[in-house]
Amino acid sequence: MKQFIVVGLGRFGYSLAKTLADKHYDVLAIDNDEEKVQEISSIVTHAVEADATDEEALKTLGVSNFDVGIVSIGENIHANILTTLMLKELGVKTVVVKAQDRLHGKVLSKVGADRIVYPERDMGIRIANNLTSSNVLEYIELAPNYSIVEIAADENMYHKTLIELKLRSRFGVNVMAIKSNGEINISPGAEVKINPGDTLIVMGDNNSLDKLKKI
Ligand code: ADP
Repeated sequence: MKQFIVVGLGRFGYSLAKTLADKHYDVLAIDNDEEKVQEISSIVTHAVEADATDEEALKTLGVSNFDVGIVSIGENIHANILTTLMLKELGVKTVVVKAQDRLHGKVLSKVGADRIVYPERDMGIRIANNLTSSNVLEYIELAPNYSIVEIAADENMYHKTLIELKLRSRFGVNVMAIKSNGEINISPGAEVKINPGDTLIVMGDNNSLDKLKKI
């Protein structure tokens, strides 16, 4: 089982740490605010009040033994960058960091961040995509031009098989899974029929997906 360190227990860090703990992962949560530490102490494996920019404090906590570190210090960019650098230098294999903007992200990759996330920007894009396409239930951006979307089956797909629908040749998209009656069929065969109420999980480039969404 992977072991996680979450630094900064604001809204993002707290919900991330709680979700990992709910999945029974080992989580060390760190914040320099005593109240934040108290709040999460009964949820995660260890909760510690410490300044994450203090190298000695991090060493004492044994952070080098952890597989993944998530830096979710928000407003204090200085502390955010310094903590990232420190976790990498102390040997944390994968460090994921919440960034404010592109420039901040650039600095983070220079100091060794393995993954940079922009939660507010990404959530904005996702919600805008969900709101503008009525049958889109979920949207995940894979690369700047590629996405995975979860769309409700359209009436004109009902009772047709994937072969009959020819989504790949007509739209250039791939159906990765179909959700039907609470069950999920991963990598469905060509003969699988679409029924009313089904949800399709489809991958493709954004233009092709846009065409599919409009049918
Ligand atoms: P969010 O937008 O996710 O709520 P915030 O920026 O409000 O994020 O929260 C960041 C958290 O990081 C706060 O709980 C804050 O106490 C904590 N934090 C800030 N600087 C440090 C530091 N040097 N060491 C440890 N925790 C810190």
